[in-house]
Amino acid sequence: MAEKSNITNNSEVQKKANFIDLQIEEDLKAGKNNNRVHTRFPPEPNGYLHIGHAKSICLNFGIAEKFGGKTNLRFDDTNPSKEETEYVESIKDDIRWLGFDWEDRLYFTSDYFDKLFEFAIQLIKDGKAYVDDQDAETIASQKGTPTRPGTESPFRNRSVEENLDLFRRMAAGEFDEGSHVLRAKIDMSSPNMHMRDPFIYRIIKAHHHRTGDKWKIYPMYDFAHGQSDYWEGITHSICTLEFEVHRPLYNWFIDQLQETDYRPRQIEFARLNLNYTVMSKRKLLELVKDGHVKGWDDPRMPTISGLRRRGYTPESIRNFADKVGVTKVDGVIDVSLLEFSIKEHLNKTAQRVMGVLNPLKVVITNYPEGESEELDAVNNPEDESMGKRKVPFSRELFIERDDFMENPPRKFFRLGPGREVRLRYAYYITCNDVIKDENGEITELHCTYDPATKGGNSPDGRKVKATLHWVSVNHAVQTEVRLYDRLFNDENPLGHKGVDFKEFMNPESLKVLPNCFIEPFVKDAKPLDHFQFERLGYFNVDLDSTKEKIVFNRTVALRDSWAKSQKRN
Ligand code: ATP
Ligand code: MG
Repeated sequence: MAEKSNITNNSEVQKKANFIDLQIEEDLKAGKNNNRVHTRFPPEPNGYLHIGHAKSICLNFGIAEKFGGKTNLRFDDTNPSKEETEYVESIKDDIRWLGFDWEDRLYFTSDYFDKLFEFAIQLIKDGKAYVDDQDAETIASQKGTPTRPGTESPFRNRSVEENLDLFRRMAAGEFDEGSHVLRAKIDMSSPNMHMRDPFIYRIIKAHHHRTGDKWKIYPMYDFAHGQSDYWEGITHSICTLEFEVHRPLYNWFIDQLQETDYRPRQIEFARLNLNYTVMSKRKLLELVKDGHVKGWDDPRMPTISGLRRRGYTPESIRNFADKVGVTKVDGVIDVSLLEFSIKEHLNKTAQRVMGVLNPLKVVITNYPEGESEELDAVNNPEDESMGKRKVPFSRELFIERDDFMENPPRKFFRLGPGREVRLRYAYYITCNDVIKDENGEITELHCTYDPATKGGNSPDGRKVKATLHWVSVNHAVQTEVRLYDRLFNDENPLGHKGVDFKEFMNPESLKVLPNCFIEPFVKDAKPLDHFQFERLGYFNVDLDSTKEKIVFNRTVALRDSWAKSQKRN
C-alpha cells in the first residue's frame, strides 16, 4: 500500500465545490434520462459498515435530496462464501440510523441472477463470451502488462454451441470450482487491462443467503453491477476512484444490453481515508474474529455501529461527511476532524452533569452533619431552553484527585493546603488539613466552606483562581467509566510493508475506571443517552449498563490531548 500524505486537518477543510453536482446539473440541462436523478448505495454484505461507507451513503442520499431524486439500497451479494444475513440487517439498521430512507427500493443483486444468466447466454450467442477451461493462474499469466499485450486463450475461438453447452454444464454444477470460467471476448491487447477478456462468471459451490443452492456459478462484480444499475433505472452510479479504470468495461456491458431508453453514468470520487484508522472490512473482520476488540460495535471501531455505541450522533457523522466534501484526489483526513464534529454537536445538545472519575474525599468540617441542600445548576449554557436542575450538596464530597496538590508548582492554580477555590454552583472552600494513611497516601482533605458564597459568588468580590467540579458522596451514583483512546498508535497502520497492521495496535486503547461518582441526575439514564461531564468530556451510557450499575463510555474528551503532545493522559 502506498504511503499516504497530505493530511487534512480541521482548519484546512472547507466545503469544496462538488464536482458531482456539477456533472448532474449538466446532464439535467442536456435533458438526459428524462431529467431523472436516481442513485444507489451498493454495499456488499460481508461486514459492518464503516465511516467510509457513511460518506458514500451521505453522498448518494444527499444527491437524491438535492435534485428531487431517489436512492436505492442494493446489496451486492454476488459472493456467497463471505456474505451473511447478519450483515444485511446491520447495514439496514445503520443506514436508517444515519437518517436515510430507501422506502420500498430495497434490492439484491441476487434478484437479477436469472436475468444476468440470460444476458450471459446472449453474449455467448453473439460471439462475445466464451468458456475458458484454464485455471485462474494460467489465465493470469497470459494477461500481459499494461505495455505488453496479453496472449489469447486457446479456448477463445470455440464454437457458440460448445460454449453454450459448457456454460450450461458449469451452471448445472458439473465442474469443480476453478476449473472453468466464462469470459467476455473483448480485446487481449487493450491498453486497459480490465478489457482483456475479463471474467464474467466463476464456479462457487457455496450456499447463498438468499438463493440457497440454486446456483453453482456466480457473476463477477463488474458484470453484475452496471446491469443491475440499468435494470433499476439508476442514472448516476457513484463509486470510488479505483473503479475509474473499470468504467470502459461498465460501458461495454451496457452497450451489449442493446437497450437504449436511457443510460446510467458512472462517476468516481476519492474514498475517505482517516489517519490512525483501519477501514477495510476484511481487516476489521480480522480484529473481531481474533478478539482484538469486543465486536463490530466495539466503541473503538470505526464502524457506524461502533461510533453509535461510542456516543456519536447521526448529525455529527453527516456534518463530518459534509465537511470532508467530495473530491477526485485521494487524501487522508485527520481523525480529529471526526472528533471535532461530535464535540460541536454535543456542545449544543448534551445535558451537563458533574462527575468525578478519580475521587478524592473532601470533608467540609463546618457543614452540619446529616444535612444537605439542593443548589441550582445550568443544564446547558448553550441552550437556555434546557433549563436548570438541582444538585445536592452535603458535608462529604468527592473532587477529582488531580485537582489537588500538596506541594503545588507555580502554575498549578487549583486546590492546595491553605488555598481557596470555587466549587461549581456551590461555595468557596478552603483546604485546612491533608489526611493520609500509614503509607503516606492522601485519603481525604478537611476543608471549610464560606456560607456567604452560595451559588459560587463572593459578595465581597474576593477572587479565586479555580472552579472545580464535585459530587456529594451520599447522593452520587457509583458507575463504571470506560475511557477510549485510538485503536492504533500509528498514523497509517497499513502503510508498513511486511509488518502486520495489528503490530500498531494501541495497548492502552481501553481503560476501565470501576469507581466513578456522578451526580444523581443520571440515575435514570438510558443506553445511548449523552452527557457532558463538566470539565472532562462527553460521555454516553453504554449498552452494558444494568439496573445495578450504569456504564459510561467517554465519547470524546473536551480537550484534544493527543494532537498537542502525542502523549496519552
Ligand atoms: P472495504 O474496502 O472497506 O471493504 P468496500 O468498498 O469493499 O469496502 P462495499 O460494500 O463494496 O465495500 O462498498 C459499498 C459502497 O461504499 C461502495 O460504493 C464503495 O465505493 C463505498 N465505500 C467503501 N469504502 C469507502 C470509503 N472509504 N470512502 C467512501 N466510500 C466508500
Ligand atoms: Mg467490496
